[in-house]
Amino acid sequence: MGNTVRRDDKEIKDPEGIREILKKGLVCHVAMVDDVKPYMVAMNYGFMDDNIYLHAAIEGRKIDILRKNPDVCFMVYTGNRLSTGPVACDDWTMKYRSVTGFGKATLIEDDKEKIPAMHIIMNQYTTKGPFEFSPGRVTQTIVIRIDITEMTGKVSGYPNE
Ligand SMILES: Cc1cc2nc3c(=O)[nH]c(=O)nc-3n(C[C@H](O)[C@H](O)[C@H](O)COP(=O)(O)OP(=O)(O)OC[C@H]3O[C@@H](n4cnc5c(N)ncnc54)[C@H](O)[C@@H]3O)c2cc1C
Repeated sequence: MGNTVRRDDKEIKDPEGIREILKKGLVCHVAMVDDVKPYMVAMNYGFMDDNIYLHAAIEGRKIDILRKNPDVCFMVYTGNRLSTGPVACDDWTMKYRSVTGFGKATLIEDDKEKIPAMHIIMNQYTTKGPFEFSPGRVTQTIVIRIDITEMTGKVSGYPNE
């Protein structure tokens, strides 16, 4: 099975349409490979120049995994809304726009390099910046940059883009 959406009518083919979802999303689900086992976490994120930026505590299972294997799969969705009606399957459906992608994670551990990424994450959620980050907080935080290698977009229940 190739990396195209099986339902061709639902695939978002315009790269800008895919990027719009990543600009609007609030949560990124990041899947990793822990030796041979999958592991996934939900994370807040920021999107800029086809990179995804994440921040986290400096320790934990996901960081241990990413140090060993930087390959990730991610998913972001927006606009999810439940449609209902009398008939199961026909009327009941979830509307959404989503992106699934793959990439390589780089851990950013230098405090100076973390700060621009932390601004990008804040800018995903608010236009009220720029914000200050206390040196203590920055030191306690690790930044993960995902360089996206491929991604696909899908729209379901909304007019196609
Ligand atoms: C909407 C949302 C946004 C989030 N945003 C961020 C973010 O920006 N940055 C961030 O670091 N974290 C975020 N989290 C929390 C994140 O999903 C992880 O719980 C957290 O990062 C810890 O991961 P870890 O691998 O270091 O956990 P560890 O504590 O090292 O994991 C140990 C074990 O705990 C269990 N576990 C870990 N996380 C969860 C969980 N969320 N729910 C249930 N069991 C769990 C698993 O079984 C795992 O094997 C968010 C969670 C949600 C739901």
